[in-house]
Amino acid sequence: MPVPLLDLKAQHAPLEQELKGAFERVLRSGHYILGPEIECFERRISDYIGARHALSVSSGTDAILLALMVLGIGPGDEVICPSFTFFATAGCVARVGATPVFADSCPVCFNLDPDDAASRITPRTKAIIPVHLFGQSAAMDRILEIAREHSLHVIEDAAQALGSKFRGQSAGTFGMVGTYSFFPSKNLGCLGDGGLLVTNDDALAERARLLRTHGAQPKYYHKMVGANFRMDALQAAFLSVKLPHLDSYAQARAANAATYTGRWSQLPGVVLRSDGCTGCCRGSSSGLAAQDAASVRLSLPTAVPGRTHVWNQYTLQVAGGRRDALRELLASRGVSSEIYYPVPMHKQECFASCVPFDLKLPVAERLAAESLSIPIFPELTTGQQAEVLSAIQDFVLN
Ligand SMILES: *Cc1c(COP(=O)(O)O)cnc(C)c1O
Repeated sequence: MPVPLLDLKAQHAPLEQELKGAFERVLRSGHYILGPEIECFERRISDYIGARHALSVSSGTDAILLALMVLGIGPGDEVICPSFTFFATAGCVARVGATPVFADSCPVCFNLDPDDAASRITPRTKAIIPVHLFGQSAAMDRILEIAREHSLHVIEDAAQALGSKFRGQSAGTFGMVGTYSFFPSKNLGCLGDGGLLVTNDDALAERARLLRTHGAQPKYYHKMVGANFRMDALQAAFLSVKLPHLDSYAQARAANAATYTGRWSQLPGVVLRSDGCTGCCRGSSSGLAAQDAASVRLSLPTAVPGRTHVWNQYTLQVAGGRRDALRELLASRGVSSEIYYPVPMHKQECFASCVPFDLKLPVAERLAAESLSIPIFPELTTGQQAEVLSAIQDFVLN
């Protein structure tokens, strides 16, 4: 049975009339860039997130770029970010002329390891970008502590974590600026590209608003060099249709995760990633040691207590160099899977000039070699889920 990684047609089918209505409303309004649809969506999403200001932008990547520009980060500055992340996090740092400094990840939650990040701070460090990877918040308490101690800006890349919380507060609202993506594969996806920047700081919000349209105020009088970071009215209208469903999407993802974990954790050779670990983000060695046990074939992702996981991905770790074997077995059953991410940023050719040649980030390297994400999308049918359940079970038992 074919099981795609994501089924957006299934997500949009029940909303078709509403989405068409939104399209017609925008079509007839004559207002296609910014305007009332954008303002309405920004009000709704800032309420949902619990941020004072929310600015819709052209993509999640542009939201990160804009965040760095708003904070005045540029040549000569260093910005610490995880190596195990999507390219955009570090790519934007390089695009403003600053230097990305790569830190290792926590083997339990996959997010930035605060201790490792702290060890890489220099007098040039201006900011730190935790990424709330796969739908789960990074250890924001410790990251904020470190940032405060060293007077660093915190930019949160929450592209994969809209709706996720850390101790009840939305991921993306802890630092100076938080960024999100509405790329179709994210938990709230538009029908094209889109992104969001949030901040609780009035002055920063004002600067971001200006930089979003070429830094002009009034029009054609440019105070700063900005760019075109605007969202289409059409995308905002679609997002307004989908936003009320976001929590139910996340619940369905969490239910799928619970079914997977409940079934597979009973199998021999399968561990929950937290097993044997002294605590998430507390030194990276313990989690690795647990997984070094020769009997472990597969480890399952964990929702860390105190963090609301929204399961943008369900990411397995396949031990013993058998990831490709698992991918092939899944493919033979029609089950799609994807490697997020096969090459950590410190091993990317484009960053070779800013990485010490002997830099070793053991957790990031291991995650890149062993991670495999499998279908967890909200519209997964019982039949599709049964296919995934039995395929993985067969892999573990054979
Ligand atoms: C998707 C993603 C982005 C970029 O978002 P786009 O909307 O695709 O530009 C940035 N960071 C992370 C971690 C992402 O997953």
